[in-house]
Amino acid sequence: MKLDVNSLRYLSKDDFRVLTAVEMGMRNHELVPAELVDRIAGLRHGGTYKVLKNLLKHKLVHHDSSKYDGFRLTYLGYDFLAIKTLVNRGVFNAVGRQIGVGKESDIFEVATEDGTILVMKLHRLGRMSFRAVKSKRDYLKHRSSYNWLYLSRLAALKEFAFMKALGEHEFPVPDAIDCNRHCVVMSLVQGYPLVQVQQLQNTDEVLETIVGLVVRLAEHGLIHCDFNEFNIMITRAMELLTKVVIISISLMDIGTRSGIRMSHESYLLGSLRNAKGLLACFWLKRKRLGVEVGRSLLVERNIDDNEKVTMIDFPQMVSVSHRNAKMYFDRDIECIFKFFAKRFKLVYEDDECDGAEADEEENGRPSFSSIAKSVGFLDRELSASGFTRKDQDDIEKFIEGGTEQTDITSSEDELEEQVQAETETDASIVQNIDLLKLEDQNNEKKSKDDTSCNENGEND
Ligand code: ADP
Ligand code: MG
Repeated sequence: MKLDVNSLRYLSKDDFRVLTAVEMGMRNHELVPAELVDRIAGLRHGGTYKVLKNLLKHKLVHHDSSKYDGFRLTYLGYDFLAIKTLVNRGVFNAVGRQIGVGKESDIFEVATEDGTILVMKLHRLGRMSFRAVKSKRDYLKHRSSYNWLYLSRLAALKEFAFMKALGEHEFPVPDAIDCNRHCVVMSLVQGYPLVQVQQLQNTDEVLETIVGLVVRLAEHGLIHCDFNEFNIMITRAMELLTKVVIISISLMDIGTRSGIRMSHESYLLGSLRNAKGLLACFWLKRKRLGVEVGRSLLVERNIDDNEKVTMIDFPQMVSVSHRNAKMYFDRDIECIFKFFAKRFKLVYEDDECDGAEADEEENGRPSFSSIAKSVGFLDRELSASGFTRKDQDDIEKFIEGGTEQTDITSSEDELEEQVQAETETDASIVQNIDLLKLEDQNNEKKSKDDTSCNENGEND
């Protein structure tokens, strides 16, 4: 999805206040009637309707009058709320290009004030699986969009909590930086997903590291559940050095070579094809040089051309105490072995294990039963991070509900239950209205009007 953040600049405080009011209204309304938006936003000088029109123009809200008249947040509206919060917190101050489109997410580069590039992952849980369920039957009736917001927020919270906890236990994961709504900010992994890697220098070592990670995760009580070539990043020291050398040489060139101005002009004057050809030569020459310099630097400093493995993408992780844990564990391991066999032509003989060894390995693969003996990491550490056992159950139900193996009939009740559980009471909505109103009234006296607004909220 295209994320044009330019209009963020032109949105006023009132625009964001009304957008937030729509978000709050969606906690118990699929479509939020304009009067309710107006009441929640409580703009001092009125004008909610005009603001809503502006938000509509920027596609931040959607107007629907098919069942009853009201507004709901769009993906973009939700993105803007999260981005605005994170920018206000000083986490980043610019949004760059999109670097990934996952099944259930959009991934962008963002930059901090000092120019550090980070990664922002916007969760879109339900983009695929939820639609698949929904297309068969409208389980959530009028609750669909609300459900999307809730699930995406849960997925982000879970990913952030897991990334943080895993990082603290020295698992190779990106640094978890911050999280708001459906958005997670993490460090950028230099390198490529394994699926894009055609050749490895140290194939056996990389496979060993990857399988070792699945095993170590299980020893900590966790299973990744989506451990495949798309969620494993490979960083090569050589590639990084080459990039650094190319950039340094190009910068030196621009600074010192006067001829660059001439050639620059000739690119512009020449046909597009010629210019492209010249640029390619320019780049290739530097790449070759970069590789040579990089290699000699590695040799000189006695550094191996190691391939570092980083794992990403954690919203679907489960505990080893999960009823399908063994199946998920075996599937993760199998997926890796299959990929290595196909891509790197690694042949693994099925070991004929016997006795004690058979307990440790099954057909040359680590065995789940011998590993997952210690459970507790997930529950103890993650509940401290704000990601509760109930959150885990909710998201597991949904993720399983979205897979192909799902029994659609049984997920109907689960989703309905989930919607019931998620629906906030009127009392907490009233509390939210208060919070929103208080935000801008720090220096003002509380008027009696506030109480009348609460009463109105309760009626909804
Ligand atoms: P999804 O859950 O939708 O599969 P992922 O977290 O797997 O999303 O990310 C999708 C793609 O985005 C990855 O395959 C990878 O190319 C890129 N990506 C995600 N996180 C990072 C990161 N921290 N650094 C670099 N690239 C990343
Ligand atoms: Mg992924």
